[in-house]
Amino acid sequence: MLRIGIFGGTFSPPHNGHIYIAREAMKKARLDKMVFVPCGNPYHKKAPVTVDAKQRLEMVRLAIDGEAGFEICDIEVGLKEPSYTARTLEKLQKIYPQDRLCFLVGGDSLLDMEGWYHPEEIFKKAEIIVAKRGGMDSAEINAAAQSYRSKYGADIKIIQLEPIDVSASDIRERLRCGYDAKDMISERVLKYIKENKIYEDSI
Ligand code: ATP
Repeated sequence: MLRIGIFGGTFSPPHNGHIYIAREAMKKARLDKMVFVPCGNPYHKKAPVTVDAKQRLEMVRLAIDGEAGFEICDIEVGLKEPSYTARTLEKLQKIYPQDRLCFLVGGDSLLDMEGWYHPEEIFKKAEIIVAKRGGMDSAEINAAAQSYRSKYGADIKIIQLEPIDVSASDIRERLRCGYDAKDMISERVLKYIKENKIYEDSI
């Protein structure tokens, strides 16, 4: 039985925070690989997703190129309906019937998860690996994890890491204002963004 990391996100754009927590999760939660799953049209995001899913997929491809054990999966990208993690995990269980799915989230997403579509199914289908985000309070993350464990029997592992304070919204804002973001994002992704004029006038 392999331990398959599943990393869902909007990835608009994928940044060093994503790569960092994915690497740390591979080591600390003993994962055999990490599958990045860019979403199609997430219903739980507050801001509309303005960047085409195909472009976000391509940016993830560029961001993980050359990273050992990192893969990309496009099952959510072509969906007409919103991407629901519970449904995606169901599909992934069919792709990896013998293996353990380990769904990676940042601490902010853990706090939101109870509002997602059928959280009880998510907790049943996957172990949850949590990476704290910069500026977050550990007590809040621990309390949410504890509540999901007792309410849903969730299997939640909080990995110990030095949080880094990078977010896609911050990067979009910087790029839109013409500021530099090269410490937060890979050179290849930045080149793609510039060539395709992404984020120049949208957030
Ligand atoms: P936005 O700023 O637009 O909300 P984001 O930076 O959170 O975007 P997403 O693609 O929405 O990026 O995130 C995918 C997953 O990665 C989420 O579970 C999120 O919590 C997590 N994540 C993103 N950045 C970090 C970070 N710096 N540290 C820990 N987790 C992170």
